[in-house]
Amino acid sequence: MLIAPKVLDWFDIYGRKDLPWQKQLLPYPVWISEIMLQQTQVTTVIPYFKRFIERFPTVRDLAEANLDDVLALWTGLGYYARARNLHKTAMMIMQDWAGVMPTRQSDLMTLPGIGRSTAAAIAAICHGEAVAILDGNVKRVIARHFAVGGWPGQSSTLRALWIHAEAQTPNKRIADYTQAMMDLGATVCTARHPACHACPIRSSCSARKTARIDEYPGKKPKKVKPKKSTAMLIVRTRGGDIRLVQRPAQGIWGGLFSFPECPLDELETKLPSSAVSVIKLPAFKHQFTHFELTIQPVLIDIKRRQDVPKVPNGTWLGSNQHPGFGLSRPAERLIKIVTELPFS
Ligand code: SF4
Repeated sequence: MLIAPKVLDWFDIYGRKDLPWQKQLLPYPVWISEIMLQQTQVTTVIPYFKRFIERFPTVRDLAEANLDDVLALWTGLGYYARARNLHKTAMMIMQDWAGVMPTRQSDLMTLPGIGRSTAAAIAAICHGEAVAILDGNVKRVIARHFAVGGWPGQSSTLRALWIHAEAQTPNKRIADYTQAMMDLGATVCTARHPACHACPIRSSCSARKTARIDEYPGKKPKKVKPKKSTAMLIVRTRGGDIRLVQRPAQGIWGGLFSFPECPLDELETKLPSSAVSVIKLPAFKHQFTHFELTIQPVLIDIKRRQDVPKVPNGTWLGSNQHPGFGLSRPAERLIKIVTELPFS
């Protein structure tokens, strides 16, 4: 039995139709919103989306922008590869597609950062192509409704989910169906406490009928993450200026500004002789998908900028200056902390 008729009836009454990127459903804003919505909730995305579109209203504006400006607008959203890929893709659209985003899913998928589901969402919502989507929300709805066991990160589970997603995709009202499925997962079939009483497909939902909703989708097998540690050297002048360095384009926090780092056991050798005081601030943990990093911040007060040698890719953030570039999450957090601390 196809779920589309019930899902569409539900969407007509309850679906969200006034999100900022739904005004005209044009490819550029839909693309930006789809990328921002990967790993991030709608309520968090909305202000970021508005600022982004105001600053870069067209593909051309994004392509011609400085990557630092793009990353600055992304600060706080995380997963910065998404912002770097947006920028790279905008440049490719200008160069290879005469400034017009491709319309078909298969062409969209050739662009950096646009996977099968994101390409399908853009093609279906903006151009009516009858292709299936399978973002995180839709995976949850399908896994529960059809009782697809296993973790969606496993290829066999993913394949089974795609088969159901494709079989359910209707030929008519594809744009509405695509948005409806994403909405259903985001607002009704939520990860915790799904509102089954308000769900249009509850009567055919296998997980609900067998009272095994919590088992779908299957959890990721637990793996102990490797642990790493580093010291972050926060050099601050009497006037409150803070030294930052831009990280290499590749790797963690690629292209963002952060503090110079060194291994904990080399800390003593890295302290400048001009330091007026050196204070170890409370250490904290930062989680990456593949490892856990313990960060030991070290506040090093100096009298003036000239008291420390220049470092490659270094810059100074003046006191009370708004950074016009992207910051790593720990740098953002530590700047707030040290700004409150008196000079020693
Ligand atoms: S009935 Fe409940 S578990 Fe099943 S799809 Fe609807 S909200 Fe999700």
